[in-house]
Amino acid sequence: MANPMFDALFAPLAGRGGPLLMLADGRQIAGQALLATIAQQAHALASLGVQPGDRVAVQVAKSPAALATYGACVAIGAVYLPLNTAYTAGEIGYFLSDATPRVFVCDPATAAPEGLQVLTMDAAGAGSLADLAAGMPQVIDAVARGENDLAALLYTSGTTGRSKGAMLSQRNLLSNAAVLVDHWRFTPDDVLLHALPIFHTHGLFVATNVALLSGAQMIFLPGFNAAEVMRLLPQATVMMGVPTFYTRLLDQPGLAQAARGRRLFISGSAPLLAETHRAWEAATGHRILERYGMTETNMNTSNPYVGERRAGTVGQPLPGVALRIAGEGEVGVIEVRGPNVFQGYWQMPEKTAEELGPDGWFITGDLGRMVDGYVEIVGRAKDLVITGGYNVYPKEIELALDALPGVAESAVIGVPHADMGEAVFAVIVGDVTAEACLAAIAPGLARFKQPKAAVVVADLPRNAMGKVQKAVLRELYKGWFLARENS
Ligand code: AMP
Repeated sequence: MANPMFDALFAPLAGRGGPLLMLADGRQIAGQALLATIAQQAHALASLGVQPGDRVAVQVAKSPAALATYGACVAIGAVYLPLNTAYTAGEIGYFLSDATPRVFVCDPATAAPEGLQVLTMDAAGAGSLADLAAGMPQVIDAVARGENDLAALLYTSGTTGRSKGAMLSQRNLLSNAAVLVDHWRFTPDDVLLHALPIFHTHGLFVATNVALLSGAQMIFLPGFNAAEVMRLLPQATVMMGVPTFYTRLLDQPGLAQAARGRRLFISGSAPLLAETHRAWEAATGHRILERYGMTETNMNTSNPYVGERRAGTVGQPLPGVALRIAGEGEVGVIEVRGPNVFQGYWQMPEKTAEELGPDGWFITGDLGRMVDGYVEIVGRAKDLVITGGYNVYPKEIELALDALPGVAESAVIGVPHADMGEAVFAVIVGDVTAEACLAAIAPGLARFKQPKAAVVVADLPRNAMGKVQKAVLRELYKGWFLARENS
C-alpha cells in the first residue's frame, strides 16, 4: 500500500549499501543500515500503541538515530513533532499539553512531565528507544497514507504570542522537496554538508528531504563548528546554511581553498546581508544562492541556479508556488499559495482563518517588494515602526547603518515614546559610537525615519537559526525614553 513520503524518501534506502551519512568522527552509515534502524524504531513506537495520526514528540540531540525517528514516524503514519533542544521544561510542557503526543522521546536528562509515555535517546542515539528497537525486525511494511494526511507538526518560533503548531501534510513536504531537488540540480553525486539542526524546517525538510529524495549523501554534523566545517567542506559538493554560517566561515583561514570545486552554497532562514554575499564571492568565487521560506510553507522563492543570483534578494517564486504582494511594486505583505502551503494551525481554527484564506492564499506576515521579478524581504509586518503616525521600515535604516565604516550589523526597533507613540531606536554592533552613526545616516533619511536614539552593543541576540530576536531587544529597551522623561 502506498505511503508517498515513505516510498519516496526512505524505501529507496533499501538499495543503498553505500554511505548515506558521513559523521564527524569518520564513521559512515549506509542507507540500508539507517533503513533497518528506521524499521526497528517504527516497530518499537507501534508496540507502545502509536497509531496513524498520533503525534510523536521528539526533543533530542541531532544524530543518525534521531534522523531514524523521523523516518520511523513516517513509516507508521505518526505525526512527527520535533522540538528545539533549547526549549526549557516550561516551554516543553506547553507543547506537550497542546499536541497531546502518544509518546515523547527525549534526552535521559530531561525531566519529562508525568502521565506521558517517555522514551529516551542521548546524543549518541542510546537510550530506552534504542533498547526497545534492538529486539525488533529490521524490515517494515509502511502504513498506507494519503497525500493529505499529516506528516509533521512543527511549532513556529512564536516571536509574539503563543507558538503555533503548523500542520504539514505529506504533499506539502514532498512537493517542495521535488521542486527543490530540480531547482538546485541535486543528483546522487551530491554530498550535502549538513550542520543545521533537524528540529527546524531548514535542516529537517529543506536539507534532509532534498538529500534523501535525490539520493545524495550527507556529511551529518551535530551542529555548526567553523573549524569542523572547514575540515569537511572539501568532501562536500553543497552546503546549506543560515547567514551566520557564512559570516563565521569568512573569518576562517583557508576558505578559498576549501570552497574551491564545490558546486553550490545556499543560504536562508534569516536575511543574508548583501555585503556578506559580496564578501563570500570575493573570498571564494561563489555567489551564494539565497532562498526564502518558513515553517508554514516550506520554501517559497529561490534565486536561480543558472542566471543572476541577486544579492539582497530571495529570488523568484519557485515553480508551482504563486506569490503576490499587496500593492505591486511597493512594500506590502507577501502572500503565497501552492501545494507547499500548510494545512492550518493545530487546534487554532481562528488563527488559521486569519492567515490562511479559503482560496488557499497564506498571509506570511513578511513584508516584501518585487523588483524585476526578484523578491526583496523588507522585514516582518509586526516589526514595522509607527512613529508619530508615519511608517518606518526598520530594514531601510539597518541598511543605512550597515553601510557605515566600522558597523558590523544593526537592528532597528520601535520603542514606546510618550510623544511619538513609538520612536525609532537603533542597536548597533561595531567599532563606532552611537552619536557618530546617527549623525552619519541623518542626511540620507527623512527626519521621521532617523533613530531618536542608538546604542552600541557587542552582539545582537539571535536564536538557533540565526534570526535576530527583536522581541528581546524591544523588551530590553522598552523603558529607554519613558525612563528619561520621568527622571
Ligand atoms: P521559520 O518559520 O522559523 O523558518 O521562520 C520563517 C521566517 O524567517 C520567514 O517568515 C522570514 O521572516 C524569515 N526568513 C526566512 N528566509 C529568509 C531570507 N532568506 N531572508 C529574510 N528572511 C527570511
